[in-house]
Amino acid sequence: MEKARRLLKEIYGYDSFRKGQEAIIEGIVEGHDTLAILPTGGGKSICYQIPALLLPGTTLVISPLISLMKDQVDSLRRVGVSAAFLNSSLSAGEYREVLRGAMQGEYKLLYIAPERLDAPMFQSLSEQLHIPLIAIDEAHCVSQWGHDFRPSYRQLAGWIGRMPNRPLVAAFTATATEEVADDIEAMLKLNEPRRFVTGFARPNLSLAVVSGVDKKRFLQRFLKEREQQSGIVYAATRKEVEQVCGMLQQMGIEAGKYHGGLSDTERAETQEKFRFDHIRVMVATNAFGMGIDKPNVRFVLHWQMPGDLESYYQEAGRAGRDGEESDCVLLFEPADMQVQRFLIEQGAGDAERKSIGMSKLHMMMNYSRTQRCLQQFIVDYFGESDVAACGKCSSCLDKSEAVDRTQEAKMALSCVGRMKGRFGVTMVAKVLKGSRDKRLLEFGLDRLSTYGLMRNLPEKEIADWLYWLVAEGYMRLSEGQYPTVSLTANALPVLEGKTAISQRVRAAVRQSGSEAASHASPLFEALKLWRREAAAAEGVPPFMIFFDATLRDIANAKPVTVDELLSVKGIGTAKAQKYGETIAAIVSEHASQDDRGTGGGYSASVPKPAPPSSTKLGAEQSELPSHLQSLELFQQGMEPAEIASHRGVGQVTVEGHIIRAAGEGNEVDWDRIIPSGQEALILAAIEKVGAEKLRPIKDELPSEVSYFAIHGVMAKHGMQG
Ligand code: ADP
Repeated sequence: MEKARRLLKEIYGYDSFRKGQEAIIEGIVEGHDTLAILPTGGGKSICYQIPALLLPGTTLVISPLISLMKDQVDSLRRVGVSAAFLNSSLSAGEYREVLRGAMQGEYKLLYIAPERLDAPMFQSLSEQLHIPLIAIDEAHCVSQWGHDFRPSYRQLAGWIGRMPNRPLVAAFTATATEEVADDIEAMLKLNEPRRFVTGFARPNLSLAVVSGVDKKRFLQRFLKEREQQSGIVYAATRKEVEQVCGMLQQMGIEAGKYHGGLSDTERAETQEKFRFDHIRVMVATNAFGMGIDKPNVRFVLHWQMPGDLESYYQEAGRAGRDGEESDCVLLFEPADMQVQRFLIEQGAGDAERKSIGMSKLHMMMNYSRTQRCLQQFIVDYFGESDVAACGKCSSCLDKSEAVDRTQEAKMALSCVGRMKGRFGVTMVAKVLKGSRDKRLLEFGLDRLSTYGLMRNLPEKEIADWLYWLVAEGYMRLSEGQYPTVSLTANALPVLEGKTAISQRVRAAVRQSGSEAASHASPLFEALKLWRREAAAAEGVPPFMIFFDATLRDIANAKPVTVDELLSVKGIGTAKAQKYGETIAAIVSEHASQDDRGTGGGYSASVPKPAPPSSTKLGAEQSELPSHLQSLELFQQGMEPAEIASHRGVGQVTVEGHIIRAAGEGNEVDWDRIIPSGQEALILAAIEKVGAEKLRPIKDELPSEVSYFAIHGVMAKHGMQG
């Protein structure tokens, strides 16, 4: 394993293996078939790339992800490993060329899309090549129990089974319940496989379910808080994709769209723009996914609830593959349940398939409504029960108090009771609203005593309220295309006044942490700018040069010699040689600017070549930024007024410093910012008037509540004014 570790450092620039990697690699190299279940971003590729380098011959990598293949092959070539791919993106000429090279054993790794393989080609590959290992990525596609079954995978399994000198087979996936894992082993006929499950938890993802908000306003604010971040918004229908994308473009956001109704060329173009960071937000249906693998997706926002938790976690999991803090937000309205239910009922599949679909949908619904840690909920679903609460999902952060809703529940339930199970949710909502709808009047429903009981609420809100009561089990919907609504036994105690009903309203989403961190460092910004230009010059996506995390590490470590550069995570020998001098130049330039005290005024273009990389420039440790100086004094126990007079600035400035520092993730004692008892008041005021402007919030509150406290609450709950 010494060799494996050396390759890890030399080629990838990493010092240590991640959980599971070493054991998986060791197992494969020792000759064991393997099934490895690693979460997205867990580092599967290294698990087959290193064995491929250690074993003689050409390793085949089967993957349905076309752009991932291209990225990996490009990345491998950049670090001097011979690799190639065969998929539909190649022209006939290129295809022949790669195949010719492959037959001559020119590649250590050959990536192949399963659709591109037919039996004769597979046979000639296996006859002419020495293939020590076949790595199968996204192996859940071989199982009919998974959520993304592909017949081409099943076919492949058959061919492998019939190979005369069957190579080792290593299967990889991120999503597999135990049932699916068993099925993968059986379908691929793995030979006494070693199974590794390193866990499904994704510690760098902050999961959130947000309901009861104006979705458009929420999205606008969410994106405003993440001005430089790249992300995906998933919507259920093409029409919604068009609408949301249009809305974002109107706001001046670089948004693109992706759905099944667009031509192949349009889709491919948009996808490339997204990969190259020319488009910041991709609005898409679930058609967008298998083809992408962009490591720096900072958020995935679902415009509504998908039909099952596997799909949700896979889509949400496209955030943060590079290991950086990322957000996954699900905007949930109870009516989403109806849409998904309709899709299942109308969809293909026999009764059994539909009933599996319905139970998966219920699980998804439970996720959307649970008050348990969301990360725990998901990993539990995949069979892992001993994971600690994540401490940063919307459930863990939920400090909101439940609101008593008994009165509204009684109104709704008694109305449903009076309508005797003959109407759907929409009609009940119209009755409660007091609508003059023609059909309503024809049925004489305006004569019901509950008619107009909730007339001061919008009809849509009433309908949502009714769906909520369904989800909570007080009412039920009938089967079929036009479900009617009726009461369940649980409704009775409520109507009799024996049970109270309360509801939590959750809207807070963590403030974007990495964004805050990036504001703090002009050097990081300068490195990003350089990367953008270098990427454009080389015609590759920026992440292929370096990930954000690597740039941030450089900005922190400020390396100016090759040795120092090599100690930064993510920089191997090849990249250090290629970019080392330029990076050292940028770092030095910043160091000297910091010395001159002109931080921030760096040049926007790629700097001149650096001095010889072994001469270390005298980069003094720059002084602590002003806001952190205030924070330090605050942490030492001084009050803002004292700090202000000590530093000779205004108190408001100092308070601003402390809030900014807190927003950047520095530890603060919130109790010193928010006097006891005020937090709930402030939250209630924000709930009422929104968090866009401060003045209306202040006006809602008693005069003793200060702006400092309001800002404090907003920073604590990740909201921005
Ligand atoms: P996935 O499991 O989703 O296929 P990848 O193989 O693409 O994940 O790896 C995700 C990211 O983690 C990549 O950027 C990869 O370079 C990085 N990575 C993998 N192994 C390590 C490691 N041992 N140390 C640090 N980063 C790693």
